[in-house]
Amino acid sequence: MKSIVYALLFSVMTVSAFAQNNKLPRVKILATGGTIAGVGNSADRAGYKAGALPIDELLNAVPEIHKIANVTGEQISSVGSQDMTIDIWKKLAVRINEIFAKNEADAVVITHGTDTQEETAYFLDLTTAHKNAVVITGSMRPATAISADGPKNLYDAVVVAADPNSKGRGVLVSFNENIFDARDVVKTNTTQLDAFTAPNGGPIGQIYDGKVQYYFTSIREVNVNTPFKVTNSTQMPRVDIVYMYADATPDLINASVNSGAKAIVIAGVGNGNFNKAYMDAITAAIKKGVVVCRATRCVSGRVVLEDEVDDHALGTIVSDDLNPQKARVLLMLAMANTSDKAQLQKYFFQY
Ligand code: ASP
Repeated sequence: MKSIVYALLFSVMTVSAFAQNNKLPRVKILATGGTIAGVGNSADRAGYKAGALPIDELLNAVPEIHKIANVTGEQISSVGSQDMTIDIWKKLAVRINEIFAKNEADAVVITHGTDTQEETAYFLDLTTAHKNAVVITGSMRPATAISADGPKNLYDAVVVAADPNSKGRGVLVSFNENIFDARDVVKTNTTQLDAFTAPNGGPIGQIYDGKVQYYFTSIREVNVNTPFKVTNSTQMPRVDIVYMYADATPDLINASVNSGAKAIVIAGVGNGNFNKAYMDAITAAIKKGVVVCRATRCVSGRVVLEDEVDDHALGTIVSDDLNPQKARVLLMLAMANTSDKAQLQKYFFQY
């Protein structure tokens, strides 16, 4: 008799646990590689290989994750993010838009190497057209290292993705208990666990013991009507970045133009400035129809139109507060739509 009661009780508990599970948000994890999936031969980092572990093994390291969401994984690529490509960006954007359009999940988490994470985040921020949360994370220590940060970062990213307040904020980067806006986040440390900051504004929120708290909202983030939607076959022009430094020669600008770049982002000094040699090479490039965008090598601040440089006379546009690598992302997407300089400049103030 007792055993029948226990059996009944157990089946009721199982049913209710299942019913509760069904109420959890569905989070799809798209894995791309990176140190979070990195494997080494020892507990230190020397010689480790990024992107070696499949998504299922990353998930096995954080069983608690299944208490906060119904999580499923999908492998998109297995690369260190220094090998990230435009083709993988397009694949991610297409898949994310498809997941939400077909209601396959409520939110998406992307695991990604940290080196180019900020570029991928901004590309997806511009190209995904849904209010559902998209959260990117990674780690600084490989999965085999002592105190690997990957499992905690993955857990936190799922917490952020599952939180209703994350909806409508565009793409987010969740890292080391901070939440950043995709447009503002920058990798500012080469090796330490707090590798990401947002130099112009700071993190927009924090995660602590499985709870999310937001403090700020970016005014430029929900792109449901984005003009930058891509397919796997969208062609984007070549956009190069050329760094400015004291006594720089114009050779790299000329090489870029001669190699077929349709636009060049100058990582200028200060407020997007450059020397006379650059000025001459840029003037010649613009005459050939190349778009030149002034950005800055400074860690923070914006590049102001018509300041020391007469952009109107020279024919340059400015990146506003986007760093050179993010300015390149916007320019590639924008120039797939238009080559009108006024419109390109408008995009920089809008997105
Ligand atoms: N090189 C690695 C990558 O970006 C570094 C990391 O993930 O932290 O994939």
